[in-house]
Amino acid sequence: AKVTRLGPSPTGFIHLGNLYGAFVDERLAHQSGGLFYLRIEDTDDKRQVDGAVEAIISSLEFFGVSFDEGAAMDGDKGEYGPYYQSQRAEIYQTYVKQLVQNGHAYPCFCTEEELSAIREEQESLKENPGYYGKWAKHRDLSFEEIQSRIEAGQAFVVRLRSKGIPAGSGQEVRTISVEDGIRGTLTMPENEQDVVLLKATGIPTYHFAHVVDDHLMRTTHVVRGAEWLPSLPIHVELFQTMGWPLPVYCHTAQLMKMEDGNKRKLSKRKDPELSLDYYRSEGYHPKAVREYLLTILNSNYEEWRMANPDAPQEEFSFTVEKMSNSGTLFDLDKLNDISKDVLVKIPAAELASFLIEWARTYKPEILALLEGNQDYLVKILDLGRSGDKPRKDFVYARQMFDFISYFYDDYFKQEDAYPDNVTAEDATVILSSYLESYDHQDDQAQWFDKIREIAATNGYAAKPKDYKKNPDQYKGHVGDVSTVIRIALMGRSMSPDLWEIQQILGEEKTKDRIRKK
Ligand code: GLU
Repeated sequence: AKVTRLGPSPTGFIHLGNLYGAFVDERLAHQSGGLFYLRIEDTDDKRQVDGAVEAIISSLEFFGVSFDEGAAMDGDKGEYGPYYQSQRAEIYQTYVKQLVQNGHAYPCFCTEEELSAIREEQESLKENPGYYGKWAKHRDLSFEEIQSRIEAGQAFVVRLRSKGIPAGSGQEVRTISVEDGIRGTLTMPENEQDVVLLKATGIPTYHFAHVVDDHLMRTTHVVRGAEWLPSLPIHVELFQTMGWPLPVYCHTAQLMKMEDGNKRKLSKRKDPELSLDYYRSEGYHPKAVREYLLTILNSNYEEWRMANPDAPQEEFSFTVEKMSNSGTLFDLDKLNDISKDVLVKIPAAELASFLIEWARTYKPEILALLEGNQDYLVKILDLGRSGDKPRKDFVYARQMFDFISYFYDDYFKQEDAYPDNVTAEDATVILSSYLESYDHQDDQAQWFDKIREIAATNGYAAKPKDYKKNPDQYKGHVGDVSTVIRIALMGRSMSPDLWEIQQILGEEKTKDRIRKK
């Protein structure tokens, strides 16, 4: 059984990468009968935002990812807490003390000025910037000197005394090998930096907190973004120094986007769709987002889906080996296509509740309208969706409402104009004849016969193919006539079946709209 965790920093920005990672964590844990927990990495208090933890939990839950243990809305759950790093200072400090006692770590009193002087000197010598080897100035301070600096109130950090061999020492640089769950064997130069474990404030760095927490909290698989790959040698040395076994690392590929023919990383500034809030406020259905994530997470998912069109997503057996290890291409158009396929399978009544729930938060001004007549809403949403070629009109809630808004008088707008070949006079004649002949009880065939007749009487071909044969004899064809009616009824030239729309609108509203146009 695998134990996985999500370790978000509560900065108030939850992004697609968090969900993507959480999804992998959740699948790995639950497919193996294991456990997935939430740890809040709140050691950087400058970047923290109130309510961020609640936002993380509720956002992930909305998209179908929930935690078995760890930080939760109603306090911690589980035996290995506290699950907020800010509440674990004593734990980190205890381990750091041990490391100092054993000679694996030491206090470093270098000031900012001294550190930048070191960096400048390194740069002038074209050496690796960093605190290592001969550059690690405070590595071998005597006990007395340390004591007197501390007594004098000098601030200090605690650094690892790295056993790595620094480049340029004359000795051969050693490499380490790590089996990454996604990437296979990684071979990298070992760490040689005396990295900071504890900051002057007594707060641990990410490196140290990661190692201590993932060990104490029994994490078996660390799923995290590829941006952490360069720090892996540090973590390997830290685990070795602590005498603890290494978890299995799974470094996920970064989300990329195509732009002008090039792949680039998604950026918080340029891409609103990086934020999970984007999907909630647009009203993407969680099933659609999950379906899309699965297709980009596992290269064999689409094939599986083709063979099992109606199987629940949980039945797919997810494997890290099938994950991409180069940049994963994120494509909103593809998500939208998938979303159409997902929504078309959701019954109209369920879609109606989904739309209402979305409106409650993101478009409250339409809530009363939708809730006031739910039967009407369900009929509207079901339009054109029966039969073997159901319409795939819906992508996300905001678009859904825009798509159906003409059914509601307050939102009914004239969006399109009459076809070019129909004059205003002709349109008036067409509409008044239509109103005269309109009988709400007509079935679809009777109704369409009347439209053909109106077309023929007014110089439009009753069938498109008659028009094609003799375009000079007609002003247009029956399609132009129904477009005129469509525009009067819906304000749009494209829509689902006109006759069915009238059945939903009802006799009064239908006649009224024709009359008003
Ligand atoms: N707090 C880190 C982040 O938000 C977590 C990385 C990890 O999963 O180890 O990037």
